[in-house]
This record gives sequence, C-alpha cells and structure tokens, in this order.
Amino acid sequence: MGRCDGKVALVTGGASGIGAASARMLAAQGAQVMIADRDTANGKAVAAEIGSNAAFVALDVASQDSWDAAVAATITAFGGWNVLVNCAGILRHGSIESETMDDWRQTMEVNVKGTWRGCKLAVAHMKAGGGSIVNLSSIAGIEGGADLCAYSTSKGAVRLLTKSVALYCAERGWQVRCNSVNPGIIETPMLETYFAERDDPQAEREAWDRVMPLGIRGEPEDIGHMIVYLACDESRLVTGAEMVVDGGAMAR
Ligand code: NAP
Repeated sequence: MGRCDGKVALVTGGASGIGAASARMLAAQGAQVMIADRDTANGKAVAAEIGSNAAFVALDVASQDSWDAAVAATITAFGGWNVLVNCAGILRHGSIESETMDDWRQTMEVNVKGTWRGCKLAVAHMKAGGGSIVNLSSIAGIEGGADLCAYSTSKGAVRLLTKSVALYCAERGWQVRCNSVNPGIIETPMLETYFAERDDPQAEREAWDRVMPLGIRGEPEDIGHMIVYLACDESRLVTGAEMVVDGGAMAR
C-alpha cells in the first residue's frame, strides 16, 4: 500500500527540479499525478517516465484561463483532485536599486499571484472532500536577501498566504490543509542558471555552499520527501506550518 493511495496531485513546475522529483515520488507512493508546467517538452518526458499514473498539461501559472484548463484536465483525467503542489517559480537576481518594475511584476505574477490562483481553485474544489495544498516558499522568504529583493518578497508573501488559507479552511471545518515548504539551497536548473548569470559563478557557488551548516548540497528529493509527507494523511494535523528543509541554515 502506498502512502499516497487515493491522492490526485496537480504539481505545477512539475517539468523540472523540485516539482519533477515530487511528481515522481508522489506517484511512487500511489498518487495519480498531473504534471503542469510551461515547459511542455520536459513536462511530457517526466509524465511518460512515470507511466500511466501521470499525465501532462500545459500551464502558465500567470494566466487564469490556463489555470482553469489545467484543473479541469486533472479532474477529467483522474476523476478528482485533492493535492496541489505549487512549485512553479522564477528567481531573478536584483536589489532594490538594480531591479526594474518589470522584474518585480514578473516575479510577483508567477511566484505570488500564480500560487494564489492555485490556492483559490484548490479551496473551491477541495472544501467538499478535503485536500492538501503545498506551497513552495524558501529560506529567502524567512530572511531577506540584498540581491534577491523581489524574490525574497515573493517568498515571504507565499509563507503568509499559506497561513491565511490554512486558517480560513480550518475555521470553517473544511479538511483542506495548506502548508509551505521552505527549502535551503537545492541543486536544480534554477540554481544552475542563477550561478551561470553571476559575474563570478565560482565565488557565488562557494559562498552559497557555506549557507547550510550541514555542508550537504541539497537535492530535489530532499524536498520531495517533505512534499510527500504533507500530501499524505500522515500529516493530517499539520496546517499553516512552515516546513524548513535547509541543512540548519535558519537555526543560526
Ligand atoms: P526549476 O528547476 O527552475 O523548476 C521550476 C519550473 O517551474 C520550471 O519547469 C519552470 O519552467 C516552471 N515555471 C516557471 N514559471 C512558470 C509559469 N509561469 N507557469 C508554469 N511553470 C512555470 O526550479 P526549482 O529549483 O525546482 O524550484 C521549484 C520551486 O522551489 C520554486 O518555487 C523555487 O522558488 C523554490 N525554491 C527553490 C530553491 C532551490 O534552491 N532550487 C530553494 C528554495 C525555494 P521554465 O524552465 O520554463 O522557467
């Protein structure tokens, strides 16, 4: 018996990194998984690799129409929907001085409004039968980053959006849990791109390697384990929580 038997999960950002790892791990525990991403080629490849328990739908989390279609496709494909993993996100390097309004808007559109749209649709659907929403925040949403101005702001917003949704549902007696996961530094394409765009990628890499006291480079599966726990009923008493998976960084 799988830990996620009976779960139908829509995983945004499921074509890459943490989302792809989570999709694989949820399916391995018995969930049916809709991989939703703007990256169609990789999204389809992840779904094909998982097999008959997975499908792919194109999703731009910044578009309401796209969200509506992705949710409808999930319910049609699997006959229900009770887990949402909001993993799609973008990371732009920029300080209060260097970043433009366009950088800011794009980050908020995807990281904050995209997550908000997903939460809104999930609550509307899941309030009748229960469910679990997992939002990807970050340790950058707990402590500020001088050169991650919009990103830090967006991830802080996701933390508190999560708590608001959790309380709203709990106070109405709806068994819809909502939690954030706050990863430390995880080896994904997002991180590779971030380093590649720095003036001195090697120096930046070395600096970031010192962030997590355990001294282990985080892998997407380290976050996937937490997402599986939050998706399944083992976490039935957990809502509104910030699940920090960061090699001890926030313990400082
Ligand atoms: P990733 O490898 O870049 O994967 C993110 C996926 O989301 C990509 O497939 C990306 O497509 C997709 N995406 C971006 N914008 C989208 C949109 N508007 N609609 C639909 N899909 C979109 O990143 P990751 O490192 O796995 O990150 C996953 C989540 O964890 C993000 O929310 C991130 O902020 C958070 N996080 C990551 C780390 C880390 O160290 N990696 C740490 C803390 C938090 P494209 O490739 O086309 O952009």
